[in-house]
Amino acid sequence: MPNLLIVGPPGAGKGTQAVRIAEALGVPAVSTGDIFRQNIKEQTELGQRVSAILDAGEYVPDSLTNELIDDRLAQDDAAGGYLLDGYPRTAGQVEFLDGVNLRRGEELDAVVRLVADTDEVVRRLLARAADQGRSDDTEAVIRHRLEVYERETAPLIAIFAERGLVVEVDGIGAVDEVTERILAGLAARGVAA
Ligand code: AMP
Repeated sequence: MPNLLIVGPPGAGKGTQAVRIAEALGVPAVSTGDIFRQNIKEQTELGQRVSAILDAGEYVPDSLTNELIDDRLAQDDAAGGYLLDGYPRTAGQVEFLDGVNLRRGEELDAVVRLVADTDEVVRRLLARAADQGRSDDTEAVIRHRLEVYERETAPLIAIFAERGLVVEVDGIGAVDEVTERILAGLAARGVAA
């Protein structure tokens, strides 16, 4: 089973697509953002440490995020493969994940890059804010999250491109259509259920 990443700006539809792709391929979808939000909701110690960081649209420190991923990927359901959504987001996290994979005796199989322009992602995030009221979905925080993404995370795509791993997919369109595009792109690289 494959080891996969899905990357792209906030609002590109990563979370929605990750769940569908993971199900189609029989691996767990692991979203660091979801894990943080769950911990905040349950008011765990981790939740209390990261709550203000998420509200500000900043990144949680690598030390915390890497430890979380290390624990999560050690669970049984991820033994055969995984689809990571929202991780890695920094150069330090890429390096850490390389170490995890080395220990597992595995490599990444593909990195799905969901492409969507800024106006579209802002529009989607504002709609989601109205709909779900996520505390990091105010317009100022949305703009900040996009800036942090462009500065910290977008440049990492070049690392995966150099490794020949990137499957670029247009993220604009109906949810089903985008899922089909991703599955077709992965199948073309030999990644299939
Ligand atoms: P997401 O749902 O992936 O957009 O993540 C929501 C928020 O969680 C981000 O804006 C960050 O504050 C935090 N977060 C999620 N994943 C990471 C990560 N890999 N590194 C640092 N912070 C993260």
